[in-house]
Amino acid sequence: MNTKNLTTQILFSMLFGCILGIILNLYFMDYAFVKDFLVNNVFHVIGQIFIASLKMLVVPLVFISLVCGVAALGDINKLGRLGGKALLFYVSTTAIAITLAISLALLVAPGEGFNLSVTTAPDFIPQEAPSLAQTIINLVPDNPVKAMAEGQMLPLIFFSLLFGIAIVMAGKAGKRIEQQFNDYNAIMMELVSILMKIAPFGVFCLIAKTFSLQGYDVIMPLISYFLVVVGALLIHALVTYPLLLKTFTGLNVGIFLKKMRQVQIFAFSTSSSNATIPINIENTEKKLGVDNSVASFTIPLGATINMDGTAIMQGVATVFIANVYQIPLGIEQYLAVILTATLASIGTAGVPGVGLIMLAMVLNQVGLPVEGIALIIGVDRLLDMMRTAVNVTGDAAGTVIIAKSEGALNQERYNKILS
Ligand code: ASP
Repeated sequence: MNTKNLTTQILFSMLFGCILGIILNLYFMDYAFVKDFLVNNVFHVIGQIFIASLKMLVVPLVFISLVCGVAALGDINKLGRLGGKALLFYVSTTAIAITLAISLALLVAPGEGFNLSVTTAPDFIPQEAPSLAQTIINLVPDNPVKAMAEGQMLPLIFFSLLFGIAIVMAGKAGKRIEQQFNDYNAIMMELVSILMKIAPFGVFCLIAKTFSLQGYDVIMPLISYFLVVVGALLIHALVTYPLLLKTFTGLNVGIFLKKMRQVQIFAFSTSSSNATIPINIENTEKKLGVDNSVASFTIPLGATINMDGTAIMQGVATVFIANVYQIPLGIEQYLAVILTATLASIGTAGVPGVGLIMLAMVLNQVGLPVEGIALIIGVDRLLDMMRTAVNVTGDAAGTVIIAKSEGALNQERYNKILS
């Protein structure tokens, strides 16, 4: 099946899942057959199998692909430059994202006049966010196998980079191993293609389940908060990234957005940047024309430290909670929010719901009540889906820009219409 057909199929399965989920939620959730069998068994089981099979590929793919990428670079200076550019791009776009979110939220003022009694939110038990020092120490795995088994991305990236560097330094022996890794990489890419074939079913079940369980009633009291987050996410995805792409690469941004659709649907339905890594690497290499030496590094790194969508939610949530509790914030506090949320986004793992946990750190920083998180928890599932789609778009946009600047972008492939 060609990619265009597959994208269309995945898109339709998302739409059908959405429509069916809403219908089930409105009219059929009182039937035990629908709720217990269809939603909580059929949709749940297929959806979870789909997510598990995506996650199954993450660790081997990141390790193999990154080792190949570093070995192909063949130059540690280049690697350092790549890392520097990636960090600069990721951190500055996150700061832009949260500034945009706070500005929009201040303009619309969601939460003003909010009636606290309308929410029936469960109590939120804040969890301890890891400290910056611990985050830095955790970069180095004391046991790489454990890091792999637990799917810890940054230590895995660290070990893979070192392994790749050692291959370059090992001369002839390194060349032989590099060749083997290239073969493994080709096999991993085939595995990704196999998995894509079940994607329409997986996406359908995940979306149908979420929408049948999420009623409108949780959104209505929070509609202003919800819409401001969605608005800022859309502006960031449709204006900020295209502008940056156009400015730094001169490429056609319409092509980028079109080719990102499939990856965004994966991120949307799984709510996990990590689970989307294999699809995002494949897409940036095969469709956007980025060389493996760049994509294999910047995509997993971005999925781990670059969370623009999450930062947007955190910015709007901070203003919302300040409004609800009628605690006015000054300019220094907003600057502190920008700084903390940017750092928090580095420490946020690319898995569902972590953004809310890290929000506790941001709220603490400016002295807002952490219990405020309970107010927005009800709509977070849907927002998590949308912000994850933005998170992965940012990783790909950064990857294309960095690849172009490194002469590692196949422009012909980028411009090629999907067939
Ligand atoms: N689900 C998000 C991601 O994986 C993280 C978050 O905002 O909770 O990118």
